[in-house]
Amino acid sequence: MHDVIVVGGGPAGLSAALVFGRQRRRVLLIDGGSPRNAPASEMHMYLSRDGFSPARLLELGRRELAAYPSIEVRSGVALSASGAVDDFAVVLADGDTVRARRLVLATGQVDEPYDIPGLAERFGVSVFHCPFCHGWETTGKSLAVLASTSPEAMLALYVADRFSDDVVLCAHGPLELPDEITKRLAERGVRVITEPVTEITGGLGELDLRLADGTVLRREAIYHRAPTRQHSELAAQLGCEILDDGTVRVDELQRTTVPGVAAAGDTAKLPAVPDAATLVSLGAADGVRAALWMEGDLFRSSLGLAPPA
Ligand SMILES: Cc1cc2nc3c(=O)[nH]c(=O)nc-3n(C[C@H](O)[C@H](O)[C@H](O)COP(=O)(O)OP(=O)(O)OC[C@H]3O[C@@H](n4cnc5c(N)ncnc54)[C@H](O)[C@@H]3O)c2cc1C
Repeated sequence: MHDVIVVGGGPAGLSAALVFGRQRRRVLLIDGGSPRNAPASEMHMYLSRDGFSPARLLELGRRELAAYPSIEVRSGVALSASGAVDDFAVVLADGDTVRARRLVLATGQVDEPYDIPGLAERFGVSVFHCPFCHGWETTGKSLAVLASTSPEAMLALYVADRFSDDVVLCAHGPLELPDEITKRLAERGVRVITEPVTEITGGLGELDLRLADGTVLRREAIYHRAPTRQHSELAAQLGCEILDDGTVRVDELQRTTVPGVAAAGDTAKLPAVPDAATLVSLGAADGVRAALWMEGDLFRSSLGLAPPA
């Protein structure tokens, strides 16, 4: 019986495991090894590591965990989770079942780009989802923004305001925009193309968007806020409340609605937050916060005291 099983070894899960290890808790970290930003060669906005390799950050994180003997790290996928506080069971893809008194879910999200040939393999490399992560690097470039909804069209307005005078919005499917958005796109000089994009070829700096009428639009970079889904079903299996946008509902202490189960990083969201802010630094902070409060809960329960109200 472990004190805690942390599922997911991205910034959130590694940070949680580090806190537990330093408190000499028996913690098992299980990681499938496919973090969300894997396609990106650089990460930004992590103080002291701006422009650093995301893969290297995780490698260094794992190395730091190795200094704490009560932390066990296993590569592999957790297929299912069940149980209740003080006795959770997690079944791994290799058939093994592991048990713990508490669970931290840090399994992240998966981006699902539109079904346009050439798009998915360029996601994170020359097709960017987030102007905070990649905007600076696209300053002054010719940009296309793929959009099928009004919030996605707002991204075109945003990058036109912050980074480039040359922005084209390419509608994906029927795009119905409020008049006020259409007006502002026109004011900003953002051209709206309704002819469907049928294929994307080329690389960063010379991307070709082939349209259904045969014309080709050359752009230096593309923005696409791809739809996302949970990377694992573990929270749903455990009965955690899932919010309308698919994220796991947590409170200010990262607790899910199931006692003994915390969630951290991209997988989790406070219900009051309108749009999930998914960043490496915030994931790491969530992981630390989840572990701090869970550690307090473990300690209190060892004294026979109730968890904090
Ligand atoms: C292309 C791209 C670029 C980005 N650039 C930046 C940037 O510059 N700066 C920034 O701050 N943020 C950036 N982000 C966001 C950042 O990647 C995420 O916010 C961050 O990775 C979230 O960390 P996490 O630990 O919650 O999840 P992840 O990093 O996604 O890690 C989750 C881990 O859990 C594992 N896992 C999932 N399910 C299971 C399971 N069932 N069993 C075992 N393991 C499992 C996965 O394999 C993965 O290793 C970027 C995102 C993308 C898509």
